[in-house]
Amino acid sequence: MKAGAVIVSLHDVAPPFTATIRSQLALLKGAGIERCVLNVVPHWHGEHVLTDDSALVALLQAEAAAGNQIALHGLTHSPHGPLRGALLSRVRGQVFAPGAAEFLTVSEGEARRAVQVGQDILARAGLGHPSVFCPPGWLMTPDAVRGVLSAGISTIAGMFSVRRNGAVTWIPSMGHMGSGYEPGVRLLNGITWLSWARRSRVVSVYLHPQHFSEVEQEPLLAMLSDMIRSGWRTATYEELPDA
Ligand SMILES: [Zn+2]
Repeated sequence: MKAGAVIVSLHDVAPPFTATIRSQLALLKGAGIERCVLNVVPHWHGEHVLTDDSALVALLQAEAAAGNQIALHGLTHSPHGPLRGALLSRVRGQVFAPGAAEFLTVSEGEARRAVQVGQDILARAGLGHPSVFCPPGWLMTPDAVRGVLSAGISTIAGMFSVRRNGAVTWIPSMGHMGSGYEPGVRLLNGITWLSWARRSRVVSVYLHPQHFSEVEQEPLLAMLSDMIRSGWRTATYEELPDA
């Protein structure tokens, strides 16, 4: 069977995690991952502006120049008010992304404005105007989707989906959640690989900087190394093949 493409995403790229992001990039390169997607939070928790961290800005400029993709990962990665939207989304936000589901708390206009402010910060950091958006916690309301699209975003990366120019592609997803419950996530990764991912044309692998340790990453990095050795190639959303 022909091997597919793997899109590796680093989440929560923001000043509090600069050292960890640097370590993750080095480990990924060691595993043969040539390029990845960097999910940047321009104004982490409304406290840390990307442009204030010159070391992170320089790192991201170098990674972008080397072919890695800069994506927008919310504006603050924190709620702007009470959770909105469908009950199931609100429950997911409460359980899986407490304090993170920014785009479950905004109106259409607020979502558009948050993207514009985030893109302005990235442009000031010399990182262009990304057209890929990954909502914090992979959660957003339909209103927020409309707002984000109206700000010029063409690609929305969900946990198990990619929406590009209106068409949704479902893709398997595995990774390091950074939640402190990694044994359960590793079990899910194994089930996802056996049941779906190994036969898929595109697979998403995510890393978070929280609760990060080299030892904990070993199974994930070993899986990525194996995939590369078996002929899988790394891709960004720009080069996403049709699944
Ligand atoms: Zn995040």
